[in-house]
Amino acid sequence: MSEPLVIPCPHCNGLNRIPADRLADSPKCGRCKGEVILAKPFDLTQGDYASQIKGDLPLLVDVWAEWCGPCKSFAPTFQQAAAQLSGRCRLAKLDSEANQQLAGQLNIRSIPSLILFRNGREVARQSGAFPLPQLLGWLSSQGI
Ligand SMILES: [Zn+2]
Repeated sequence: MSEPLVIPCPHCNGLNRIPADRLADSPKCGRCKGEVILAKPFDLTQGDYASQIKGDLPLLVDVWAEWCGPCKSFAPTFQQAAAQLSGRCRLAKLDSEANQQLAGQLNIRSIPSLILFRNGREVARQSGAFPLPQLLGWLSSQGI
């Protein structure tokens, strides 16, 4: 038996311990009963950031803004990636306008920017929108 994975709930930030072989069974959060494993991106905010970058499943953050055309055209690709990577990587969107302090802290110079976190630390970063195969290829090179 493998050790359970520690995964933050995307709804309430509660930490859940979930056996790896149960990730595909739509596990519910012990605190809020919401779905812990999503097949779509969730919205990340300054208040959630410290909790959400933790845990055993990597977190990929798409930093975007409402006025950014390339960000908007990248959104469907990011959604598709979330569906394909469900249970392996969590995907979140960070609105850089609504969360300017965090965007500054992350040293965002251009958008869209993609930042990959693992166990509470940034491990990789890419700027610019790219097609799904390249996105999945980049993540694959990061062990996802
Ligand atoms: Zn929850």
